[in-house]
Amino acid sequence: MIREPEKKYPCVGCGYCCIRNTCAFGAVLHPEAGNRNCPELEWTGARYVCRLMSPSHPLADFYRHELQSGGGCRSFNNPWRNDVRERTEEEARAIAGGTPWPGPGDNRSAL
Ligand code: SF4
Ligand code: SF4
Repeated sequence: MIREPEKKYPCVGCGYCCIRNTCAFGAVLHPEAGNRNCPELEWTGARYVCRLMSPSHPLADFYRHELQSGGGCRSFNNPWRNDVRERTEEEARAIAGGTPWPGPGDNRSAL
């Protein structure tokens, strides 16, 4: 298959992807979390990070590879990217469980 080169959008740590849909690792490691934010998601004061990928985690390289860390943001048009801050519980619940990767034409400005 031939793929066209795609523009890569860096992760800015807005937290949208992980809050919207906990990944398989987060779901398996934390079944008790239910519909709350993934317990591995941490607000540093400047951005969200995944604790599984922190340098101090013994399996960080594995998780970084499996979760394609550094591969670019696939939710690049989400409205949170332009306003990186710690999100309220209300904001988080409003987007949780929705479509993972809104397309460029999606009108989600209200989120
Ligand atoms: S939505 Fe994109 S910018 Fe925000 S945390 Fe996820 S990958 Fe990073
Ligand atoms: S914080 Fe880490 S484990 Fe949790 S959903 Fe995000 S990538 Fe997955």
